[in-house]
Amino acid sequence: MSMIDLFRCLLAGLLLACLAGTGDARAGEPALHVSLLPGAEAPGGDVTHIDVDIRFEAGGNGPDAPLLALARIYANVDTVAATMTGFEVSDALGPLALTVEDEPDGLVAFRRWLPEREVSGEVRVRYRAPVTNALPARGAAPPYDLRTEGGGVSGAGGAFLALPADGRDYGITLNWDVSALGAHASASGSFGDGDVVLPAGSVSRLNRAFFMAGPLNRYQPAGEEGGRFAAAWLGDPPFDADELMGWTARLHAWMDDFFPAGDDAPYRVFLRHNPVNAGGGIAMINSFLVTFNDATRADSLKSTLAHEMVHTWAGGLEGPDNAWFSEGVAVHYQRLLPWRAGMIGAEAFLDDLNSTAARYFTNALIDTPNGEIAARFWEDTRIRVLPYDRGAMYLAVLDALIRERPGGARSVDDLVFETILARHEGRAMDEAGWVELLRAELGEEGVSLHGAMMAGAVMTPPSDAFGPCFERVEHDFRRFDLGFEPASLNASPRIIRGLDPASEAYRAGLREGDEVLVPVPQDSIQADQYATLTLQVRRGDARHAITFLPRGDTVPAWQWQHAGYNGTCGLD
Ligand SMILES: [Zn+2]
Repeated sequence: MSMIDLFRCLLAGLLLACLAGTGDARAGEPALHVSLLPGAEAPGGDVTHIDVDIRFEAGGNGPDAPLLALARIYANVDTVAATMTGFEVSDALGPLALTVEDEPDGLVAFRRWLPEREVSGEVRVRYRAPVTNALPARGAAPPYDLRTEGGGVSGAGGAFLALPADGRDYGITLNWDVSALGAHASASGSFGDGDVVLPAGSVSRLNRAFFMAGPLNRYQPAGEEGGRFAAAWLGDPPFDADELMGWTARLHAWMDDFFPAGDDAPYRVFLRHNPVNAGGGIAMINSFLVTFNDATRADSLKSTLAHEMVHTWAGGLEGPDNAWFSEGVAVHYQRLLPWRAGMIGAEAFLDDLNSTAARYFTNALIDTPNGEIAARFWEDTRIRVLPYDRGAMYLAVLDALIRERPGGARSVDDLVFETILARHEGRAMDEAGWVELLRAELGEEGVSLHGAMMAGAVMTPPSDAFGPCFERVEHDFRRFDLGFEPASLNASPRIIRGLDPASEAYRAGLREGDEVLVPVPQDSIQADQYATLTLQVRRGDARHAITFLPRGDTVPAWQWQHAGYNGTCGLD
């Protein structure tokens, strides 16, 4: 797909859906066997590599059609395409020479291997995928790369699996040999524990899956061995992961009752260390991945865990540029549902709501029209967070409007449920379908509110939008402001451009033309008035660490606080 299609797709919903790719299913069910053999310095030590051994029946490939594909860049992550060793491909006729075709650099850029002759019989592909724990080189990126910790290894299939490129559906067997990782080692993944067999389907399922092997720590609700919910992690997170996963399992069960049209698919949560952008999560097939660093507290992960689970039921709208819906819904419910379930207190609810509100109402680019977001998604963190923050505030505005209608029995929940049911029943549900739901519920008032949101109008929920226990107040906050051109951090190399001499960054010693050596996270610190940014910069032959508060003008922003009401707080 083209870059623009991919950006549109990213904004339409979940990243993983965009990376699914397309393929024409043809008759027959060829088999794909994937064997993974991690190797370590010593049992319990760092994992140094995974030996990958892939076999499949050739589908009549000739020199004109690619035989294998592995992204070089997968969602801004450098894969093992450039670092793999011992790459050998053979078929029934012996060694197979291949030519390489690389897509140009982009958010996703595939490498494809074309055979130099007709392919016959079983194809066998072997290579060693190194595990280096190198920091991501390209800036903001999901934690898909292979990493070792706690004597084990984890990563997304898209970051290390070279798979058949013929677009056919394959029945897949996946086998692990974890004997090099010690007596207590085991393997898990988005499709289940240990070796798995998958029915015929797209090979891209493997790209969208997360894998983890080593001396795994595991959580399963008591008495539900082999049940739907399970979690796995490596090493020692700086919080009680067992207790946090128990909380997550209870919320998973609560959401399963709340949302219509759930399925019985197993659900996995993987936790791993993240050196760059800890605290974030990403939905994978049948599972999600949450990341932490040495300072992460369990409470701070609850929003992320709730957010990613909401995605699995709520999904998105069909069509491009609909992240305002998928992400808005996920942010709206990430605090509301745990609070309704009695699984977080009012303080935690307010903290999460006010974090979104502070980031949104101080955003200097708050009025960027929805249609302009895709093109600028990766260049500026203030653009990237808009679908989340604006979407959530919009849904709160809508919720308040619907609740104040005569009768008062309906809420925005009912509209969201309609979209879920439509998808479940195979009916199309896109932005136009959503607008029709609004028209039926609120008349033209709903339609014009939606139009205003899409055009970039500021969405301000009324004071009682979150129930009678909370009220809206104004607070002064400083805007997030790097003090230089945000695109500087996405360029390669990252050279500081457009530095404002009145900025905090300049005052801390940053200078025009400095090269930033290590990518830095920004999405989360936008919401925190006191979060500093440390840039590792090179100026000539000297290197400096420059720490500053990335804040500019002071502006008023809406927040919510306790209203001193003693009745029932919840919005059921
Ligand atoms: Zn999300």
